[in-house]
Amino acid sequence: MIEIEKSFTDGKTAFKGKSYKDLLRSYLVLRLCCFDTFANNAYKIFTGVHGVVGTRLFEVLFKPTVYANFIAGDSKADILWTAKRLSKSGLMPLISPMLEDSPDAKGFHREMYARNKEVIRESIEICSMVENANGPKCLAIKLTALIPAQIMADLTEKLGPEQNISTENISQLSEAFQAGDLEIVTSLQLNQEEKERIVGAIPILMWLGEECLNKNVSVYIDAEFTQFQPGVRLLALTLINIFNRKHQTIWNTYQCYLRATEDQVKEDTELMDALGAKWAGKIVRGAYMQYERNRAKELGTSDPVHATYTDTSSAYNRTIEYLMEGKNRGKSWRFIIASHNQESILKACSLFKEFNVQDDVYFGQIAGMGEGISCGLAQSGFNVFKLVPTGSVEEVLPWLSRRMEENKGMMAGAERDRVIIFQEIKRRTIRI
Ligand SMILES: Cc1cc2nc3c(=O)[nH]c(=O)nc-3n(C[C@H](O)[C@H](O)[C@H](O)COP(=O)(O)OP(=O)(O)OC[C@H]3O[C@@H](n4cnc5c(N)ncnc54)[C@H](O)[C@@H]3O)c2cc1C
Repeated sequence: MIEIEKSFTDGKTAFKGKSYKDLLRSYLVLRLCCFDTFANNAYKIFTGVHGVVGTRLFEVLFKPTVYANFIAGDSKADILWTAKRLSKSGLMPLISPMLEDSPDAKGFHREMYARNKEVIRESIEICSMVENANGPKCLAIKLTALIPAQIMADLTEKLGPEQNISTENISQLSEAFQAGDLEIVTSLQLNQEEKERIVGAIPILMWLGEECLNKNVSVYIDAEFTQFQPGVRLLALTLINIFNRKHQTIWNTYQCYLRATEDQVKEDTELMDALGAKWAGKIVRGAYMQYERNRAKELGTSDPVHATYTDTSSAYNRTIEYLMEGKNRGKSWRFIIASHNQESILKACSLFKEFNVQDDVYFGQIAGMGEGISCGLAQSGFNVFKLVPTGSVEEVLPWLSRRMEENKGMMAGAERDRVIIFQEIKRRTIRI
């Protein structure tokens, strides 16, 4: 374990694919995140500056700096170039088109879903062209980018506070999806309007599964805000049941900062085992903590998020242990440990050994974050993905603003990144 930990600080290897200019930029962006006022108000600042200087000048300022640090680009050539650069460091891309990111269920329209479908179609195409020797070709999407969020809100309400999902729910929905008709679904007590909304979404969800299956691409369904997440989970499990018969085409995401998640991972793996489908999951801590807490306060409901950071981390680590132990029992599950947290990652590394896990378990970090950890893991023989967001400047702004805040929140991780980057800049400067 000491060797692995040491490899996390090996800047020379970690930044093999990065130019001197790239390193200086990363260092400056991470330094910028140290300013609380900036990190806390990044979205307001970005959109404010955009409003004042206009799109053109904003892009001139923003694209070579913050954007270039975290985003792969918005063209096929840029994305494939990023994938190639990652492969030099032994890393694989997890392509993530930035399409929609709002807790407002009502603000979207038909044209937007059609446009997003085109972006996803292109992303699947690009993904299929990537050479990933040690893992699936994959992309991550939000269901709310593809179908009305109201569907997920309706399903969330039907599932109720217990969020119990049964084999009956999944079997009925799977059959209905394949028939294109919801009459068979009696277990959810949907009214006519709700049924019509879901029926309208079936073709695009089935298209997503079929397109990915045909192109041999895996799609990770992102986890979202809690007013939609139980519905997202129900739809993701339905798609897993339909499409993951031979391979893991569809993956669900689990936010361990939610108190309910640890049990849900157990329930879902058991459910999919019972239905004969191959479960796959992305395990994260969760990105919307402050929003969830504020919302619970406003609604007078109990906080869905664990009370402390330590509680979230313990739930995260226990979830990984449960899954690793399952691999040891011969389960065909696949999962990605999507975290920048050094302690959780080192613990997972030791579990690989303890449970003799050979394959189908991956690590994942976001591009521009945890670079030393990603390269150290790859160097130590683990299979590692870097989440590479794609999209135009305007499309990526909300996501980037969250990353700026997160880099402030992840003080230890961001500080470690800054130190490694600085040492590598120093090493190259002396060499010059
Ligand atoms: C490949 C990849 C894919 C991702 N996909 C998604 C996704 O689909 N949906 C999503 O929501 N997020 C997603 N994330 C983001 C993720 O949920 C985290 O926000 C991010 O990774 C930071 O957590 P960490 O484990 O890396 O780092 P750490 O710094 O160890 O953890 C920070 C996290 O801990 C939790 N936390 C912090 N303080 C407290 C507190 N006081 N009480 C309780 N919990 C606390 C929060 O979740 C916070 O984000 C993804 C991340 C990666 C790397």
